[in-house]
Parts: sequence; structure tokens; C-alpha cells
Amino acid sequence: MSELKTYPNYIDGEWVTSDRTFENINPADTSDCVGIFCKANQADVNVAAQAAQDAFPAWAAMAGPARGAYLYKVADFLERNLDSLASDMTREEGKTLPEAKGETMRSINIFRYFAGEGSRIPGIQVPSERDRVFMYAVRRPLGVVAQINPWNFPSAIPAWKLAPALVAGNTALVKPATAAPLSAWRIAEACHEAGIPKGVVNLICGSGGEVGDAMVHAEPVKALSFTGSVPIGQILHGQASARRIRIQLEMGGKNPTIVLADADIDKAVANTINAAMFSTGQKCTATSRVIVEDAIHDDFLARTVEAARALRIGNGLEPGVEIGPAIDQDQLDTNDRYCRIAESEGAVLECGGQVLSHGDFANGFFFEPTVFSGVTERMRIAQEEVFGPVLGVMRAANFEDCMRIANKSEFGLSASIQTRDVSRIFEYVNRIEAGLITVNLPSAGVEYQLPFGGSKESSFGPKEQGPVALDFYTDYKTVYLGY
Ligand code: NAP
Repeated sequence: MSELKTYPNYIDGEWVTSDRTFENINPADTSDCVGIFCKANQADVNVAAQAAQDAFPAWAAMAGPARGAYLYKVADFLERNLDSLASDMTREEGKTLPEAKGETMRSINIFRYFAGEGSRIPGIQVPSERDRVFMYAVRRPLGVVAQINPWNFPSAIPAWKLAPALVAGNTALVKPATAAPLSAWRIAEACHEAGIPKGVVNLICGSGGEVGDAMVHAEPVKALSFTGSVPIGQILHGQASARRIRIQLEMGGKNPTIVLADADIDKAVANTINAAMFSTGQKCTATSRVIVEDAIHDDFLARTVEAARALRIGNGLEPGVEIGPAIDQDQLDTNDRYCRIAESEGAVLECGGQVLSHGDFANGFFFEPTVFSGVTERMRIAQEEVFGPVLGVMRAANFEDCMRIANKSEFGLSASIQTRDVSRIFEYVNRIEAGLITVNLPSAGVEYQLPFGGSKESSFGPKEQGPVALDFYTDYKTVYLGY
């Protein structure tokens, strides 16, 4: 274990301490304090916003490839520190070490991908109707952008917000989640070590109600990118609209996996368990409803329960552990509460469903991987996001019934189908109401080179990641040039 350290905020190129602090606690072992974090206040946010405003003209005027060169250096720094970044992430968030390494590699790849975008930022050039007129549109950065992050991908989400914002020429205020701020802090450290000019990147830790709120209201802020829960997203949408600043929201899900009778059942079970249980079910793209055609329902259920029972739960730093803890007591209570609600509504508890508090689990927020059968559309467990390792199995008469049940949700983030039938795959792709669609793969597990985001209540605004990530962080300037 590394020695306890106090982590300052990063404002205008300086590491700034404060009297008020909070502890970053390991959810697998609450006696392990990962670090003490300085808590910023509204005044700190305003100083950071002004610094970002002051840094904007020079950063925006820099050539795109030169900004990209800084991002390559950020990626190199992260890669040199891959092992310590991954163990920091496991300690603060609870996911297993291989998952944390994978996420850190993804952050590195994201910085490299957007570094390359610095040399590619596309504009539009089309022929004019008029003689001797040359017309084109170029992308321009917006100015200071605010980014509010959740705890469940504490490195990759800050990376996929920050990298496109910076390469497009914006300056940024980054707020990590209070439950897991260290991974984002280490990205700020990488930006500092890469020599990114002062004020371009600012990291501000503290509560959403204080720091997050101050960021949305800070006068220089021109856009807000938020990932988190629907209720907070709704509040921020109202505030951003009132100020007429640009907003992008990525929120919750109730993601279905459809399993048709012709599926490779072993793969279907493995993909469902992967999507529902890994990362302790704490992925926005996790499968929480599996909708199974009647003909194979009982076989699929039996195998899924067996696979869920076999999962090894524990501290993610230990080799062989597959499922870590919930992030905190609140999430643990939520998992437990939804299991009791599901039982009271008539769902059948097939396995799990209990808090683990004996032996090695005593100091952590551990919950058994849980499978319910007999889940029907009206049950709360079929409609509301739990955000834990809790899977509802739903029986469907046929493909049409599967589609109807899958689309009966206010959410529309990710969805998966398991089948060998090509016609049905295309039917599903056309008709499923989700922004991220997989076929014969888990519903979770996306790459950074394509757009990311949902539909319906899950998302609002332009998509993140891939080349389209620049849409949110740029505006066009259109030029008509007579010669
Ligand atoms: P959350 O409670 O909504 O918090 C998200 C962020 O908002 C945190 O940084 C939080 O700060 C901040 N915040 C809270 N209240 C605020 C306020 N009044 N004003 C401004 N900011 C405020 O969500 P979470 O529990 O961290 O994350 C879990 C949720 O995120 C789930 O619903 C999950 O589905 C969703 N998620 C979605 C995606 C996606 O791409 N669609 C990806 C990952 C997660 P504090 O940490 O200080 O409270």
C-alpha cells in the first residue's frame, strides 16, 4: 500500500491546497484510505474558470497538430504509470485489477486517438453558385468547457471528455466524482507533466452540489458535458438551458439482452454474465434485463444461475477475483432494496440477493451476484436502474415479444441480441430503441473510435467519442471569399 497522501486541486497550472478535505475510501476495505482530497469551493471554481478563460486565446490559436502533440505526451505519461494508475483505480473504485488496467489502457488510447485528430479536424468546403467565390466552414472551439464525471469509469470518462475538448482548442474545468477522484487527478497530473500551458486544464474536486453547481454557473463556461444519473442530469439541463450554454448528458440505462432460441447458448450465457455482473454491474451499459425466447428459457436460466453462483467475489487487487464491491454504502443499500422490492412484486430469487458481511467481506460493500426469474414488464426491477450485479430474466413468447419487451423502457442506452438469424439481426438493429447495439457480444464493452451515447431518457445532445466527439466541442465559422 502506498503512503497516505493529500491531493490538491489543479488550478491555473498550480497545485492548490485547501483547509477543507475529504477522504477517498477503498470500497473493498473501508479501513484503507486511498488519499485525502482538497475540497474546492465556489471561489476556487471561479478562479479556475477565469484562468481557463485567460488561457483560451493562446491555446485556441495554437495549430491543431501542436495541441495534439501535448495529448501524445499525456498518453505517454499515463502509459509509463500504467501499473500504479490501475492499482489506484482498483483501490478507489473497486473494479478488478485487470478491468482497471483495461480502462487505463483505454484512456491512453483515447488520448492518442484525439491527439491524431489534431491533424485531421475537418471543416466543410463546397462549390459556390457564384463565379470566383470560394466558400468553406471551419470548426472553432467554444471557449471554457465544464465536465462533470461519475465514479464508475473514473479514468476513461474524464479522458473521453477532456481529450476532444482540448484538441479542438477549448480549455477545461474537470470535476471528478467525490467517490473516486484519484484517477482523474492522475490525468491532471499527466497534463501537468506533459507541459500543457497553465489554465488550459483545471481539476476541481468537491461535492456536486457545491463545485458542480458553481461550474454550471461560472460566467466564462460556454458548455457542460455531464455523465451521471438522470435526476442530476435533469437539474443541470434546466440550469444550462437558463444560461443558454451548450449541454451534453449521458445518463442511466435499463439495458436488455435478447436471447433467441437459435443462439449459441454457451456464448449467450457468457455474454450475459459478462454484461450483467462484471464491474459489479456498475456500467451504464450493463445488461440488467435478459429477455429469453420461451423455447430455451429454462435451460438458459439454469446455466446463467450456475455461472453467476460460480463468480469469485472479493477485493479486486487479489488475483482471480471477478467481482468487486459496490462503490459505497448507498449503492449497497440500493442493491439490497431492489432485491426486496423484486421479491415483494413476485419475482423469484434464483441466486444471490444478499449483502456479504462475513470474513474477508466484513470491511467492504460486497453484494452477491443476483439472478431473478419470473420478472415481468411492470415490475420496478424491469424498469428502474439498480446499478448493481442484479439481473432480471424475462420470458418472451417469440422474437416479436422480445422486441416489444426490450423497447418497453424509458431508457435507451445499450442493447444486445444473441442469435444466428441474420434477418432477425437486421430487424433488431432497425427497431431496437438504443444508441449502442451489439450482436452476439455483451451489451457493455465499447471502443473509442465510434460515437458513444444513448437515446430516449438515457442521453441528450451530441454523442461522445469517435470523430463526432468534436461536434459538441466546436462551432462553425462560415467564410464566403470573393476573388
Ligand atoms: P451522479 O450522482 O449523478 O453524479 C455524477 C456527477 O454529478 C458527480 O460528479 C456528482 O458529484 C455530480 N453532481 C451531483 N449533484 C450535482 C449537482 N447538483 N450539480 C452538479 N453536479 C452534481 O451519478 P453517479 O452516481 O456518479 O454515477 C452513476 C450514474 O451514472 C448511473 O446512473 C449511470 O448509469 C450513469 N452513467 C452513465 C454513463 C453514460 O455514458 N450514459 C456512463 C457512466 C455512468 P459528487 O460525486 O460530488 O456527488
